[in-house]
Amino acid sequence: MQRITKQSIKGVGMTSQRTRDRLVDRLMQKGISNPDVLRVMRLVPRHLFIDEAMSSRSYEDAALPIGYGQTISQPYIVARMTELLLQHVEQPENVLEVGTGSAYQAAILGGLVKNLHTVEVIPELYRHSRDILYQLGYRNIRTHLGDGSWGWQDAAPYDGIMVTAAPQEIPEALIQQLKIGGCMIIPVGAQKDTQRLKIVIRQDEEKVKITESEAVLFVPLVNTQ
Ligand code: SAH
Repeated sequence: MQRITKQSIKGVGMTSQRTRDRLVDRLMQKGISNPDVLRVMRLVPRHLFIDEAMSSRSYEDAALPIGYGQTISQPYIVARMTELLLQHVEQPENVLEVGTGSAYQAAILGGLVKNLHTVEVIPELYRHSRDILYQLGYRNIRTHLGDGSWGWQDAAPYDGIMVTAAPQEIPEALIQQLKIGGCMIIPVGAQKDTQRLKIVIRQDEEKVKITESEAVLFVPLVNTQ
């Protein structure tokens, strides 16, 4: 892991604030408009969440490999999913992310919500995410190792849940861990077919309202049930 210093957070050349600002301009052109989301996207040093060998590509609007067959999501998708969540839950106090991966999405959410719990199933990625979030000073994010298709019962219920790997169907456990009125953003579908982002609102004990948003491409959500 890269050593985190004031200088490395600041970045230089392709990892500088100017480069990051250009990415945010591109996100605005693509339709991201929530000022809080744009502010945090401008702040979080994405180059520290990927391998140093690829840092010159950190501020391209692209998904990049992070090892173990996984990827860090495309910045536009990170921004879009965050914006969708905030559109439905104004000031989230307790949020769950499933699929910590690089921890970039977690850091973005960590800058916007009171408490974030994030679950990762691959031990190496879990350990790495815990270290980087700690070094960057996030004290409102709790990282967990486990199969997040079961959610994270200990800290439930959640105002918001964001899933960053795609199941074939929405896991029932996640719906059960949403507060009434809470919202889940989740990609659903097999990779070879069209995956779509779904917005799930828990209306009462039994009822959920599901609407579809754009087509996406996420790695499959592993299910160890
Ligand atoms: N949010 C991440 C995206 C990572 S890709 C980021 O910003 O980088 C999806 C991640 O979900 C991978 O790290 C993968 O290991 C993890 N994953 C897949 N199935 C999972 C499950 N059942 N529980 C928890 N994590 C899972």
